[in-house]
Amino acid sequence: MNISVSKKHFLRINTWDDIYKMSGYTDSLDPKKEKLKRVIDKYTLPTTGKCGLSNCGTAHNNGYIVETDTGKLTNVGHICGKNHFGVIFQTLEKSFNREYRDRQAKEKIASFKSNSSQYLEKVVVIENMYGKIGHIHKLQQFFTHASRGCPSFILEMIKLMVKNRNPTIYKTIKLSKEEYETLKTSGVKAPSRYKEIPIGTIDGLAFLYHENNLRMYAEDFKNPLDELLNLNVSSLSSSQLDRWSKRVGEFDRTINQTHEIMIDSKIFLDRRNILKFRKLIPDDDTQFIYLVKILKDQFDIKI
Ligand SMILES: [Zn+2]
Repeated sequence: MNISVSKKHFLRINTWDDIYKMSGYTDSLDPKKEKLKRVIDKYTLPTTGKCGLSNCGTAHNNGYIVETDTGKLTNVGHICGKNHFGVIFQTLEKSFNREYRDRQAKEKIASFKSNSSQYLEKVVVIENMYGKIGHIHKLQQFFTHASRGCPSFILEMIKLMVKNRNPTIYKTIKLSKEEYETLKTSGVKAPSRYKEIPIGTIDGLAFLYHENNLRMYAEDFKNPLDELLNLNVSSLSSSQLDRWSKRVGEFDRTINQTHEIMIDSKIFLDRRNILKFRKLIPDDDTQFIYLVKILKDQFDIKI
């Protein structure tokens, strides 16, 4: 099979035979007689093979396919290339690796673009199950930002729970006379007359943890995806390719995390869970009643 050198670029090399079958390949290239033209491919193989330089032959697993001015090809490891061809090899190796990396990034981005509908379908499934992500994000903000209208005392209590990562609702009760006396006689200095006892837990509190902010759905998936779908990949610079290749690699994680957060949102916003908020301020229902009204009026959540 005779393949032109340009076509040999980036051929996937899986075995030593793939190398030996390349047209123009020689396993005994004399580096003193040949001038290096370019690096055309690289390989990492499970078994060792011999270096293709006539004065070497060292066994190695990974290296480069180089082409000389006369059109001959051989394989050399990184160290041999440097030792026998000097700085020119290093320059060619560097530009080849940059090109190779660009090529891989382009392939990764292109393959993502052609599969992007799968990601969008995942989002549809999540939203059908748990509601619109934008809407749930607003609820997340409502329960974490004072400016969004959540009754202040309830908000403070929730913030404290989130800060302590402790979903337990406590009730402060007065110690009985005996309890207080016991504390005093046991040597506690100026004991408190009150104690806190757990009376319930808020489920799905992780919905409000800062690392679960649904803003990341827009920032790390929705917006970059929109941008990517309108992007001409062939016009991107190497650093842009690196950046996009990395972003594309993170989309899966973002979608999975979004899914997890949406599951937590359902648990947190469950009617029976919200009803437990009443216990946060046991002596005054005003804030709770107000909370229920806002949830209904602004978010269409009926408690
Ligand atoms: Zn060698």
